[in-house]
Amino acid sequence: MDGLQTQPKAAFAGQEEETFQDGLSAAELFALEGGLTYKDFLVLPGFIDFHPSEVDLSTQLTRNIRIQRPMVSSPMDTVTEERMAIAMALLGGIGVVHYNNTVERQVELVEKVKRFKNGFITDPIVLSPQHTIADIYRVKEKYGFSGIPITEDGNRTGKLVGIVTNRDVDLEKDYSVPLSQVMTREVITAPEGFSLAEANQVLKESKKGKLPIVNDRGQLVALICRSDIKKHREYPDASKDSGKRLMVGAAISTKLESRDRLEALEAAGADVIVIDSAQGNSHYQIELIEYIKKHFPRLDVIAGNVVTMEQCKNLIRAGADALRVGMGPGSICITQDTMAVGRAQATAVYQTARYAAREGIPVIADGGISNIGDISIALAIGASTTMMGSMFAGTHEAPGEYYYENGVRLKRYRGMASLEAMEAGGAKRYFSEDQEIKVAQGVTGSVVDKGSMFQFLPYLVQGLRQSFQDMGIKSIAELHREAHAGNIRFEMRSLSAQAQGTVHGLYSFSYPGIGSARREP
Ligand code: 5GP
Repeated sequence: MDGLQTQPKAAFAGQEEETFQDGLSAAELFALEGGLTYKDFLVLPGFIDFHPSEVDLSTQLTRNIRIQRPMVSSPMDTVTEERMAIAMALLGGIGVVHYNNTVERQVELVEKVKRFKNGFITDPIVLSPQHTIADIYRVKEKYGFSGIPITEDGNRTGKLVGIVTNRDVDLEKDYSVPLSQVMTREVITAPEGFSLAEANQVLKESKKGKLPIVNDRGQLVALICRSDIKKHREYPDASKDSGKRLMVGAAISTKLESRDRLEALEAAGADVIVIDSAQGNSHYQIELIEYIKKHFPRLDVIAGNVVTMEQCKNLIRAGADALRVGMGPGSICITQDTMAVGRAQATAVYQTARYAAREGIPVIADGGISNIGDISIALAIGASTTMMGSMFAGTHEAPGEYYYENGVRLKRYRGMASLEAMEAGGAKRYFSEDQEIKVAQGVTGSVVDKGSMFQFLPYLVQGLRQSFQDMGIKSIAELHREAHAGNIRFEMRSLSAQAQGTVHGLYSFSYPGIGSARREP
């Protein structure tokens, strides 16, 4: 601005009324012809007068649920089971457990998240006094540890009567001796309700390897291991319910059978239900939303998927507490190719978020996010959170084993409408479960190892904060306000601008960052 003022006045003759505003408002950008994706435009920089650590990334997941990080892991069978959901919740996001499994299995996964207490083993291996030393060795061989709590009835929640450690058994030659004869009966315990820090203190003072946590009836509730202490830290941003348990979402289909699944998931403590459908604007979904709202008022419902305002209208009217946006942008998706139905993702997010905001309903930008910049853009055009599949599928916490191909460490990642996933039950999302001939709308592939979510998510968060700083914006709420007011300015990128905006002209280079967190042109 100073530069402009020092110019000779004559150079600006007749321009006094001009506003000198760069770029386009979001409304102007999306009034252009055709559908846009995240890579088609950029946000112009704002003014920086704060540090990235001051950026507040808290946001609404649904009408009633607030989380500290705008990130959700997708309900896919190669992305979200209990380990991913636990990591997501500890790190301030949330995971949605997939339903390509039996009701019992999905309930078990949800329960594991709800039971999780950082640093506390809530389902320890236990034995009874009638078990023998041979059983201790069997457990040791299978699970690789010793220090086994002994409960009266051998059940995990039974009354604690002793503990058996290495030193109780290592000199005993007769493996048929019952544990009642060798176990230590005077066990140092901590009461239920102790924080991790308090329990750690007791463990430290006791100089023992294991600390059983018991309730006021003397029953075993959890176990803490000395060897684990260093690994655990507090997670101040964790997404927790009113009972301080981690939050978790669970997906269901629009099929009638979902009603039983729903009941079981509610009983297991799921906090939010995602109705998982590739095209959400159906009478099945509307009826299901109304049913959930009537019978399970505690549960928030994320409905979808939608890409148009008309779809939003129907689902919001039925009672949806948030909308999931995206039809065809996912990395494994071939819906737009195969069906020729869908919408370019940035346009879908902008138009649905604009409509839903009037009704106070947050939207989740689902699919097509491949790096930090895509998350920023999705938030800048109205999304409150982002849902990711491929970004997280290569982490340790995603289901599945790593394998090597051409020396690269990979994990499998598949679309829920790939033939393979449909065989396993995923076709419900696409109304094609009963069809004899299956038309795939997704592919099976692989993604590179991204390490642990406990490093990857903080990396994304740090990048996002820096991106907000560049935009001159301190929170997601401010970003939405300023974008709505036309103060966030956007600009289209030509193909050559996209090529110039990434590495070019080098003979070789290595891209910094974790995994493939790179903005492809
Ligand atoms: P990604 O983050 O990998 O780009 O996209 C993940 C999203 O793709 C999921 O959250 C879901 O909405 C969508 N999706 C998952 N499986 C399939 C599929 O097989 N076909 C299509 N069309 N979309 C899928």
